[in-house]
Amino acid sequence: MSGYTVAIVGRPNVGKSTFFNRLLEQRKAIVDDVSGVTRDRQYGIAEWNGKTFNVIDTGGFVPKSDDVFEQEIKKQVLIALDEADALIFMTDTATGITDLDEAMADVLRRTTKPVYLVVNKVDNNQRMLEATEFYSLGFEKIFFVSAISGSGTGEILDAVVEAIPEDRLADDETADIPKFAIIGQPNVGKSSLLNALVGQERTIVSDIAGTTRDTIHTHYNMFQKEFVLIDTAGIRRKQKVHEDLEFYSVIRAIKAMDEADVCLLVLDAEKGISAQDLSIFSLAARKGKGIVILVNKWDLVEKQTNTARDYEKQLKERLAPFTDVPVLFISAKDKLRIFKAIEIALEVVENKKKKIPTSQLNDVMLKAIAAYHPPVVRGNPVSIKYVTQLPTHVPSFAFFCNYPDDIKTPYRNYLENKLRETFDFKGVPVRIFFRKK
Ligand code: GDP
Ligand code: GDP
Repeated sequence: MSGYTVAIVGRPNVGKSTFFNRLLEQRKAIVDDVSGVTRDRQYGIAEWNGKTFNVIDTGGFVPKSDDVFEQEIKKQVLIALDEADALIFMTDTATGITDLDEAMADVLRRTTKPVYLVVNKVDNNQRMLEATEFYSLGFEKIFFVSAISGSGTGEILDAVVEAIPEDRLADDETADIPKFAIIGQPNVGKSSLLNALVGQERTIVSDIAGTTRDTIHTHYNMFQKEFVLIDTAGIRRKQKVHEDLEFYSVIRAIKAMDEADVCLLVLDAEKGISAQDLSIFSLAARKGKGIVILVNKWDLVEKQTNTARDYEKQLKERLAPFTDVPVLFISAKDKLRIFKAIEIALEVVENKKKKIPTSQLNDVMLKAIAAYHPPVVRGNPVSIKYVTQLPTHVPSFAFFCNYPDDIKTPYRNYLENKLRETFDFKGVPVRIFFRKK
C-alpha cells in the first residue's frame, strides 16, 4: 500500500463531497462526524488503474462570522498542505472565482506538492466557456469536471495516479518483518507506550526514515521477537497550525496504518472510544489490517471484579459488527501488559497469514451449510457446493454456488462466524465472496 494521500480542499458548496464520492465510486466513505464548527470530514480509499491512494475530503465549515470562516478554511488548507502528498483544489464555475478562492489559491501556489485545480459543475458547453476564467488562478494542472455526472473524473484520476512515485508502491527491505502501527488520538499515551516498549533498551536500533516518510520506524529485535513499530506520535512539527490536532492525528494514523500489518489502536481508559476512533477502526478493517485494541491508563480506573469484562462488553457493542478483536487493558506508565500486547499482535499477524487447507475448509463449512441452509429468496434453493481460500493478503474465501446474488448479509455473517469459531481469525478482517459455480 502506498500511503499516498490526496486532500480535497475548497470552500463550501463547490462540490467537494460530491466529487469525493465520485472518486470512491461504490466504496463507502467513512464520515467523521466531528462536532462543532465543521461539517463532516470524510476519508476513503480510491482505486484507479490498479493503484490505490487515500482521499480526504477536508469538509467545510459552518460560518459563524466571515472572519472565523476564512481563518478556519485557511487553517484547514495549511494542514492539508503539510500532511497530504497532493492536493485537489476545488472550485465552482457556477459561482465563478470568489475572494475565498483567491485567498486559497495564494496559499496553494506556494507549495511544491502537486496541486490539481478542479473546476466543478461544468455540466454543459456554456459552463465550459465560463470555466476558462479559472486559468487566471495560475495553476498548470487544471481539470474541468461535473462531479454530478462524473464527466472529467477519469482525466484527473489519471493525472493523480501518474504522479504517485514508484517507491511509494514498492515494498521496502523489511517487507517480511511484522509491522505494527501505534495509532490513536492525541494524549492517549502512544509515545509513552513506545517508550515503555523500546525506551531504555540498548539492543534497539532506531532509524528515523528519510524525507518521504512521516512516520518513525523502530526496529525491535529482542527475546527472539522481531518487529517494526511505526509511530507518528513522536513527530510534532512546525507551526502552530496544528491546533486542529484531531484532524492532524487522523491523517497521521492513516499513513501509519497503510504501512502496517497490524494496528494497535490505543484508547484512553477514562475517555473510552470516540466516534473518531471508530472511523479509524473501520478504515483499518476495510484496508484489511489486523487490529488490536489497547485500553491504556488502566491504572487510573477504579476496579471491581467485573470492571474489565464489562468495559470490554460495552466497547464491543460499539465495534459491531467486527467484534472478534483482541482487547487488552494496559498501562504504559506501569508497564502493565505491554509485552503481552506485542505477543497478541504477533498472534494476529499469524492469523492474518493463515491458509486453511481446502479439504479441511470444505469439511467444516459444508457441514455448517448443511446444518443451516441459505434462506430461499426467489423460490430457488441456493446450494453452495464448494469453498476455497483465495491467495490474498487478507483472508478471503470464495463460496461457489448456483445463485450468488441471492445470499444476503445475515447468512454471510453466519458463515463468517463459523469460520472465526473454527479457525481463529481473531483481530483480522475476513472477506467472503459468493461466486457462480
Ligand atoms: P461541498 O460543500 O464542497 O462538499 O459541496 P457538496 O458536494 O455538498 O455540493 C454542493 C452542491 O453542489 C450540492 O447541491 C451538489 O448537488 C451540487 N453539485 C456538486 N457537483 C455538481 C456538479 O457537477 N454540477 C452541478 N450542477 N451541481 C453540483
Ligand atoms: P500521545 O499523545 O498519545 O503520544 O500521549 P503521551 O504518551 O504523550 O501521553 C499523554 C499523557 O498521558 C502524558 O501525560 C502521559 O504521562 C500520560 N500517560 C500515558 N500513559 C499512561 C498510563 O498508562 N497511565 C497514566 N496514568 N498516564 C499515562
